[in-house]
Amino acid sequence: MFCVKHNAQEGLPQIRFLNVKPNDSFDYSIVLVRGEILNYTHRRHRHGLSSVQIVNENIEGSIESAEIASDGKFKVAVELAPGVNQLKFRFCCATHGISLIFDKRKNPRYLLRILYIICSNHDGHFQAPCDAETTVERACEKIDLAIRLVQCLYAEMLTKHGFDRKSFEFIGCKPFHSSISVEEARQWDQNQLWQHHAKEILAQESTEHRFKYFGILASTLCENGMVKGHAALGIGDVALFGSGTLYAWPTNFATIQRCFQDETPVDTNQLMDDSNGKNTYGGCFATALGSICHEIGHIFDLGHTTDGIMGNDIDYVNRIFTVENCPRDLPRRMASKCASDRNADDKLNQSNRRLTTIRKTNSILTNYHCRRNDDLTFLTENCAILLNSHKWFNQFAEHANESCIRCDIQQKIIKSSLPLVLVEFRSKQNGMCMKYYRFDVTTSTPTMTSNVSSLRFTIPSDVIEQNYDLIAVDKNGNIMKC
Ligand SMILES: [Zn+2]
Ligand SMILES: [Zn+2]
Repeated sequence: MFCVKHNAQEGLPQIRFLNVKPNDSFDYSIVLVRGEILNYTHRRHRHGLSSVQIVNENIEGSIESAEIASDGKFKVAVELAPGVNQLKFRFCCATHGISLIFDKRKNPRYLLRILYIICSNHDGHFQAPCDAETTVERACEKIDLAIRLVQCLYAEMLTKHGFDRKSFEFIGCKPFHSSISVEEARQWDQNQLWQHHAKEILAQESTEHRFKYFGILASTLCENGMVKGHAALGIGDVALFGSGTLYAWPTNFATIQRCFQDETPVDTNQLMDDSNGKNTYGGCFATALGSICHEIGHIFDLGHTTDGIMGNDIDYVNRIFTVENCPRDLPRRMASKCASDRNADDKLNQSNRRLTTIRKTNSILTNYHCRRNDDLTFLTENCAILLNSHKWFNQFAEHANESCIRCDIQQKIIKSSLPLVLVEFRSKQNGMCMKYYRFDVTTSTPTMTSNVSSLRFTIPSDVIEQNYDLIAVDKNGNIMKC
């Protein structure tokens, strides 16, 4: 049954899946499959074959190829059709099939709306090399595809902490016409852009609390190396992101891998380069996905963390989806000292919301990205606990007056009518998580038990002295900030 291309005494190849089981069900349509070839080394294979072929029998014409790393592992993003999908994986003469189910949620209540924001006197085309198609339709296709990858990323990041694969639901990208001119937009900084667009979006769209918004700015422009009209910002219920690197994003599923691996250097005079020093189209695409995860994380109530996607590690998303044969270390990023914008908050009547962004540091000395695997794209434990109970990740039914979390600073106590899963303390300066307590698992740590019960939490006195922001989350995703 095996062919003659192998060195038989060293064992014949076999395909094994590492993160999926037969009949696993997903509520999003792009899923990551990780696996390995047992008895693999491409040198042992007489023709040096080093990739796996993947066919989804339920999607016409679907054929993919995933590179195999030297240890025999491979990973690939697979597109699923609604219902049961029969996937066939083939390496040389070894084949292995698996059925995976895409079961789209019916009538999800909590949604992320995706908007392509077009200025009043602008046709909505985005900046790209001159031969590329840059229409509004093309932009929306690219954005929707990126959001589907972000759905998959969030689910995968949650599984790293032992949680189920959960993600958010979104409504596909639609043009949103802004009242400002493109000239104005290109003069404003991201805080001004956010203040204007967030107000516009919330006024025109809906005041319902079951929507959050992700807006991509069509107006972003790189001119003589200067980038204008760009933002990467998530506050309250609205995140904004510039379209400056949209040229590097894939338009359809079949080109995702090619885009991650695109080594075309960016002409930084003509096009925006946001790749933390990779200076390639592929680098820009990976960083864009990482940034989107980060900013969307903020509107899903996550704060900053030192590491992971809510910290500095936003440039390595490609390693989740593809084997990187020559990984490069990049300069370490630093979560910036994010000012809180009380002014914008007051106007929108959203108290206690943080203005956050990330900026680059040039210090090579601080570069300690030495790990060469996809672990760089992750959520820290506190973020994963929060999302695992988040309404947007669970679609919990709404009950009137179901929950009440009260904080009494004088009494140093938090009381909740439903069991708490997480209490987090964040710095007022930059939203950085300084300390957290989890209650979603029973802990045997004796030091934890003194001030811990899932309905009643005593705030440690050092926390009160530090004047941190306090975030408490219950099991149904009700969130209290004080
Ligand atoms: Zn063979
Ligand atoms: Zn941030």
